Amino acid sequence: MHLISYEKIKKTVHVLLDIFRYRIPPHPGIVCFPQLSITRKAEAFPLSEVINSPVPGVIRVYPDRIAVIATNRCPVYCRHCLRKRFNRDRTEDLKGDRFERILAYIRSDTNIRDVLLTGGDPLMLDDGELDTILGELSSIGHVEILRIGTRVPCTWPERVTEDFVKMLKKHQPVWMSTQFNHPREITPDSGRAIDCLIAGGIPVNNQSVLLRGVNDSVDIMLELVRALVRLRIRPYYLYQAQTLAGTEHFVTSIETGLDIIRGLRGWTTGFAIPQYVLDTPFGKIPLNPQYLRGRDGDFFKMTSYSGKVWREYNPLIQDTKE
Ligand code: SF4
Repeated sequence: MHLISYEKIKKTVHVLLDIFRYRIPPHPGIVCFPQLSITRKAEAFPLSEVINSPVPGVIRVYPDRIAVIATNRCPVYCRHCLRKRFNRDRTEDLKGDRFERILAYIRSDTNIRDVLLTGGDPLMLDDGELDTILGELSSIGHVEILRIGTRVPCTWPERVTEDFVKMLKKHQPVWMSTQFNHPREITPDSGRAIDCLIAGGIPVNNQSVLLRGVNDSVDIMLELVRALVRLRIRPYYLYQAQTLAGTEHFVTSIETGLDIIRGLRGWTTGFAIPQYVLDTPFGKIPLNPQYLRGRDGDFFKMTSYSGKVWREYNPLIQDTKE
């Protein structure tokens, strides 16, 4: 472990407070600081979300779904966050004219069947505020499902109460995506929060970020996904960390991520293996290890998780459509 002096910590914190919002969690085992050295490749924030915003507070990359920013506040401010651009000096919650404009946008486009509430962390809003937002959204005929992206089950599990789940149930189908990046983030409190959600009929998916020095090994990722499925959370995505000012030291190579996914395949339950993806301005791109080796006459050659080669009979068939 790298230890630094109190004076150096104090100086660093003061510099960082001018750049980033900061909050110390209730159980700060080890407090880590963003890196101050910034490389040439790092951006202050990814531009794609700004480009893909048809109305303020909406991000749209796909034809049938949108993300709506519910707030710019979070219970903790993650070092690897892609949304550091949010002005957190003042609170921007989803209400008033801003919300009306977003509702009008959704109502006017019948292609939108899936709305994700994101942030910041939407669970910074109280139950009454979320009830109003979810109620308005679910009253739109063509909106078929609602999703909430939140780190709260990990960062502030006490926020998940039976009353909160009862409120969510009024607006079914509601799906929740959370973010556990390391098995040590799973505590008895977060387990209770997840139990409460699942007992209330709210499915929970997990989206991890691949972070160098934190979870960039097969062993840690295996431990994480096994712990998640024990809690009945589906490991859904593993994001490639993106080069962002102050967090470049977290970025692994894509080859590292591919090796991790290859290391999971065959060694744990199939649905415990997340889809490794890169988020781009054109949507998420799956990053898949290669198992297919191509055609070999009337066979297709492929490799199993253990490296064994399989040849599947696969003759070229003439299409006989009339
Ligand atoms: S909780 Fe989510 S939005 Fe908030 S700082 Fe962490 S990653 Fe960013």
